[in-house]
Amino acid sequence: MILLKTCVEVQNYITEQKKQNKTIGLVPTMGYFHQGHLSLMEKAVRQCDKVVTSIYVNPLQFGPREDLASYPRDLERDLGLAKGAGVDVIFAPTDSEMYPQGFNTTVSVGEELTDKLCGSKRPGHFTGVSTVVTKLLNIVKPHKAYFGQKDAQQLLVIKRVVADLNMDTEIVAVPTVREQDGLAMSSRNTYLTPEQRAAATVLYQSLQMAKGAVKEGRRRVPEICQMVADQIKKEPLAKLDYVELYSYPHLKSIDEITGPALLAVAAFFGKARLIDNIILEA
Ligand code: AMP
Repeated sequence: MILLKTCVEVQNYITEQKKQNKTIGLVPTMGYFHQGHLSLMEKAVRQCDKVVTSIYVNPLQFGPREDLASYPRDLERDLGLAKGAGVDVIFAPTDSEMYPQGFNTTVSVGEELTDKLCGSKRPGHFTGVSTVVTKLLNIVKPHKAYFGQKDAQQLLVIKRVVADLNMDTEIVAVPTVREQDGLAMSSRNTYLTPEQRAAATVLYQSLQMAKGAVKEGRRRVPEICQMVADQIKKEPLAKLDYVELYSYPHLKSIDEITGPALLAVAAFFGKARLIDNIILEA
């Protein structure tokens, strides 16, 4: 496995591999790997000849009061884990490599996908995500790029960018990897105290409760959202950010569940803002 830090080095590597007809997979990440990241890399390794994993904590997608400075970072540890997963290249650029002086372009997806869920709670977040992912796709020009269902809205936004801008990459969705007690794996889980870590299982439990209610025939969206909100609010260490439910994958507002629907939650546990979601089927 090789570590590359500049866009030109990556572009040269890719040109060489494509001359040899190798298929290329890209796994964009912010690093501090856990099994969720590794499942994306492992899938990419199974499906592609050469896999590039990017590690970049993208300042453009963090709000002014968010955790950019404290976001966990450990490149040495990540290199070992990625190598173990069979990754060929780690691309770990600096800020000035990604956003050199004079950088003045952003990519932003329209409100239909971005004015809700994390988009409304984190203004500018998805423009930051769309811009950095567009850059990574242009640098690596992968046949396939891998994204986690854990960040369901991000996945839909990226699919929109790729379709709208005619990018020649297939976006592959990977299921959410969870801890044994259901908590979705996240680099931000490292912020949690043991008490907050125990409390955070309420997110998955509340989603499962909603799934059970839908199975029993409950279909009214306000009722299901209320049930999930009540469950999360019962946990004293949780501060609810949102519970929202939309049609999937178009994220239309609905009153009743009649087809696939995305139920998504966000809550703070101390300074950690955690998100989770499930797809409900009527
Ligand atoms: P991050 O480093 O948190 O930006 O995540 C990088 C990629 O890993 C994104 O596509 C995430 O959706 C995905 N990811 C993060 N956590 C998980 C998880 N628990 N299961 C599956 N994919 C995940």
